[in-house]
Amino acid sequence: MISRISALAAALMLSAAGTAFGQTIYPLDRAEILAGSQFDFKVEFPPVQDASAVSVTINGQDAKSVLTQPADFLPSEDGERSALWIRGATLAKPGKYVVEATVRGAEPVRVTWEVFATPARKAKNVILFIGDGMSVAHRTAARILSKGLKEGRYGGELAIDDMPYMALVSTSGTDSVVTDSANSMSAYTTGHKSCVNALGVYCAHNKNTLDHPKVETIAELVKRRSDMAVGVVTNTEIEDATPAGMVSHTRRRADYNDIVGMFYQVQPDVIMGGGSPNFLPKSTPGSKRTDDKDFLKQFQDAGYSFVTSNTELKAAVQPGHTAKKLLGLFNTGNMDGALDRRLLKKGSVDKFPDQPDLTDQVGAALDILSKRDKGFVLMVESGHIDKYSHVLDWERAIFDTIMLDNAVKLAKDFAAKKNDTLVIVVADHAHPVSIVGTYDDDRKGDTARDKLGVYDEAKFPNYPPADAEGYPTSVEVSRRLAFVFGAFPDHCDTIRPHTEGPNVPAVKGDDGKYIANEKNCSGPQAVRRTGNLPTNQPQDVHAADDVVLTAIGPGAEQFHGRIDNTRVFRYMANALGLAKP
Ligand SMILES: [Zn+2]
Repeated sequence: MISRISALAAALMLSAAGTAFGQTIYPLDRAEILAGSQFDFKVEFPPVQDASAVSVTINGQDAKSVLTQPADFLPSEDGERSALWIRGATLAKPGKYVVEATVRGAEPVRVTWEVFATPARKAKNVILFIGDGMSVAHRTAARILSKGLKEGRYGGELAIDDMPYMALVSTSGTDSVVTDSANSMSAYTTGHKSCVNALGVYCAHNKNTLDHPKVETIAELVKRRSDMAVGVVTNTEIEDATPAGMVSHTRRRADYNDIVGMFYQVQPDVIMGGGSPNFLPKSTPGSKRTDDKDFLKQFQDAGYSFVTSNTELKAAVQPGHTAKKLLGLFNTGNMDGALDRRLLKKGSVDKFPDQPDLTDQVGAALDILSKRDKGFVLMVESGHIDKYSHVLDWERAIFDTIMLDNAVKLAKDFAAKKNDTLVIVVADHAHPVSIVGTYDDDRKGDTARDKLGVYDEAKFPNYPPADAEGYPTSVEVSRRLAFVFGAFPDHCDTIRPHTEGPNVPAVKGDDGKYIANEKNCSGPQAVRRTGNLPTNQPQDVHAADDVVLTAIGPGAEQFHGRIDNTRVFRYMANALGLAKP
């Protein structure tokens, strides 16, 4: 009896963080694994002397014989635990797999995986659009501003809505109810759940952010298994979580310099966004690298056409061009959103006056990728819907929702020609946002609350008719949508668009807590709002609400009802027949 308790105590060793951990198996329980896809198999144990003290079986057989890759047993990993690794493992046979890990004298730990096959390939191409943080209210507001709303009826449909298949997608990760863009994108690109800030890995206990168990991304898969082409297009820094999710494996999404290396390793055929300083050797002024690697040179040596402006982009894909691979870096940071590029000219538009619109980027990407006979996977992100929502700047977020809509229209028109392309539009997570009425300057009273019309007094907004691209020619109107945020720091709400530049709702106070940015507090109806978030939060946060997915094309019929975000990967793999024997 005594020996069993001491063995149990031994088995439940305390990690450096003081959290008790027994055996942990990666991939985690209920993982759905594409037959033939690569993953790192890892089992963490409390420290043991040698491998003879542990056993790991899969469906009753020794794991090493089932996974057929070299096994590596570490008696001491990070000086904290023992670990068994089988890297780059694959399972070809579909079915249920029960994995059991035992330490001598302790209870076994079991997880169950499903390895899935795919039907015959239906789609030649897949285009995955990510409206980062795009919630239902973003869609509704974009439709009001872009299509108009009269007597309760819209003047038209958004391309992102007008699709035959729709599903609700749940986005929580392995560690919390509310995801961030990294682990939610990782679910889309690998089919595996992960934790906040992690990309293409399971979050284990490794100290080094690059040492966690990896899972193969769809970009790696289609290149390895089908010699397909890959495109990664965004208007954020290309190293940011969503684009990085196509190629990266790290526990920390902030590992920008490593992520550039991972882009180089996978070599997507088209790469476009901002974030050029992480491509430059540290000796180059403005570089953010800590080494002398010159990735701009490496990409060009690898045959990439390199462009830095819309003019250069247009030239690179002019009729008769021969570009097969393209790297476009159009800003040192995130690119500017549509409202600034088209109307307000704030942000960094003065420094980068010739940035392409997402439609320019998508047009160029389709031009290059569609020439590949084996087909392609293209990921396109409108990333500022999220970033502008974080700073409570809804007009900018909605202009970038309209921009996404235009890019989706372009892709749908492309797909309609041959009906060989699956087009998916989805958010990676929601924001706590809603439209509760309209702020009307002509209403009596002086306060923001006086100016707010709700129910029958929520008169239709008076944005001017949209231009040819679906954008109202001004947002500075007398009756504006009351687009509200459910989670926010201390701030002043001006109830008006931020025409001086992207909003900065809160600033750090002397005590390190975030307080209202006084710049917003002097306007006519500015109202001081006491935050409802922890005081270390400078911005609005993500929400755990489900998000809407719409789809069209071969394989789109799979999307209906409520699905887990990992299923988006599975349904793309099905459409492309990626588990071919
Ligand atoms: Zn976000």
